[in-house]
Formats: sequence, structure tokens, C-alpha cells
Amino acid sequence: MRQNQNKKDSGVLVDVKGLKKYFPVQTSFLDTIFSKEIDFVRAVDGVTFQINSGEVFGLAGESGSGKTTIGRLILGLEKATEGSIIFDGVEITSIGQDELREMRSMMQVIFQDPMASLNPRMTIGEAVGHGLVIHDLGSKAEVQAKTHAILEKVGLIPSNFFYNKYPHQISGGQRQRVVIARALVTNPIFILADEPIAMADVSVRALLLDLLIYLKEELELTYLFITHDLATAKYICDRIGVLYLGKFAELGQLEDVYRKPLHPYTQALMAAVPVPNPLERRETEMPEGEIPNPINPPSGCRFHPRCPIAEAICSAEEPELRELLPDHLVACHFAERFLDQ
Ligand code: SF4
Repeated sequence: MRQNQNKKDSGVLVDVKGLKKYFPVQTSFLDTIFSKEIDFVRAVDGVTFQINSGEVFGLAGESGSGKTTIGRLILGLEKATEGSIIFDGVEITSIGQDELREMRSMMQVIFQDPMASLNPRMTIGEAVGHGLVIHDLGSKAEVQAKTHAILEKVGLIPSNFFYNKYPHQISGGQRQRVVIARALVTNPIFILADEPIAMADVSVRALLLDLLIYLKEELELTYLFITHDLATAKYICDRIGVLYLGKFAELGQLEDVYRKPLHPYTQALMAAVPVPNPLERRETEMPEGEIPNPINPPSGCRFHPRCPIAEAICSAEEPELRELLPDHLVACHFAERFLDQ
């Protein structure tokens, strides 16, 4: 297991409490006239967690679990319906646009699709230096020098070779390095990495993860790492929160959650991690069925329609997220069953 051995323990950088984000469901004009009730997609439905300075905190779960929305809320790209997000001592949910714009140079994002996030008409040099120009962080010569330096830092060497090329003239792995360089050029302290290797060729995924780990140590960064894949989380994360329909199913140190998953959903996600030997059998499989509709989530435990061990209480009472082991929280009525397994 690859872990960040040099983790600096220097306090909480991001403090999230009771965070909710409900999106109103788009309806037709006639529906608006005749219906009094507005439906909401409960994308994030009350999550509380902290990200420590210098760590990689992972958010894992299937598509629709709310992980990307949480990232966007922290960056101030979405407005919270309820709850608090304190970033580096500042309450993000209530600051004005000007203050938020200033803070954005400290928090950057790496998206999963470099082709979609790079302007095909901008050279690599222009694209990477753009953030410096927008935030007015140097003269033209300084912007060029900083751009060359960060291109070299992410392994695009020599930087002169890449500086005047366009995105379509370089490989997919190199494009992802450009996106990483663009995120780092303004000298941020926090990076939202949203499935950053999902679109990369399998042959370069480990290299990109190693690069992210190297940059984190070198530049003293903190990551919120979003992934649907627990194998990737295992490689890079220090702590992890497993999300299901906008709530945490399980939360803890990556090593603890991986060694002893206490929630049936985490166990199912782990069972879905590909194994090198195709003949190796899994003890459990991913539960059948789709993730339910977040407009009208199931009663009680949201996982109960798919849970292989659900009992009557599961559809009646929502399980609390409780600390069953030190720094290891789980939301399941029957999690104790897995303590001795
Ligand atoms: Fe399954 Fe019940 Fe636990 Fe939910 S509370 S995960 S339905 S056993």
C-alpha cells in the first residue's frame, strides 16, 4: 500500500459541518403552474468531516453519491443549502464573490478529462500561464518563467518543447500533466482532484498518481481526492469517506477501512475492485440494482434495497454515523457483526 510517509500534521485545513446541497428539479411550465410542491435532488444530505493539512482525503462512491458536489461546494462553485465549510479559517458559505475570487488562487481543481478542460486554441504555455494572468500574479516575463518552471516540475521536459504546442499535439498522459501544471501554477495550498486519472491510459495511471504524491510532498499540498475506484484510493489516500446517496456510509483512516470495512456498501465496493488474477474468486459481489433516486431516497437506511443483510429495522430507522473503532465511523445497525471477521 502506497502511503504518504512524510505527512505533516499541522491542523485542520477544511472543516465541513452538516453540509447539504439540494438542487430543485427542473419541471415544465405547465407543471410549475399546476403543482404546488417543488422536488429536490438531495445531492448532499448532511455530511460532516475534516481535511487535515498535508493529507490526501478521499471521497469514494458510485456515480450520483454526491462526491463531486461536495468538492464544488468546498471550492465555492456551488452554494450550500445548509451547513458550514471553513477553509483555512474562513467560512466559505457566507463570504462575498470578491473574497471568494481571492481565495480561489489557494484552491485549484484537476478535472478528469484534460481534453475537455483545455481550450484547443490555446497553446500549452498560454493555458498554464492563464491563471497567473487572471490573478495578476506577475509581469509577462515572470508569467513565462513560472510557466516553464511548473511544466518542468510536472515532468514536461524540456518545457520549451511543450510551451508552444497545442493540446491535440501531445499525448493523453502529457495533457493530464498540463492540467496538473495549470492547477499548481498559482501556488495553491489545496487541490480538488476529481477522478484525475479516470480518463488516462492504464499504462500511465500509476505514473500520474506517483506524480501527484511527489508534488504533494514537494509543494506541501493538501488533496481532496474523488474516485469511484477503491484501488486508486488505496494507492494515494490517507483517510477516506465512503458516500452513498449524499451521506457517509463509512469514514476513517484508509488503512483501517481497507483492512476491516464495517459497512456492507464499502464491502461491496471493495469486492468490485479488479484483481490481477481473473480466476481468483470474490466472497461477495456488488449488490444488484441501481443507486436509488436521490429525489426520493429510501426510508431508513438508504442502502437497504440493495443490502444483502438488511432486516426490518433497516427500512424503518436511519442508522447514525457512529465511531465504532477509534477514528473509524460507520452508519449501519449491524456493523458490530463485522468487527471480529
Ligand atoms: Fe444494510 Fe441495514 Fe446496515 Fe443499512 S443498516 S447497511 S440496510 S444492514
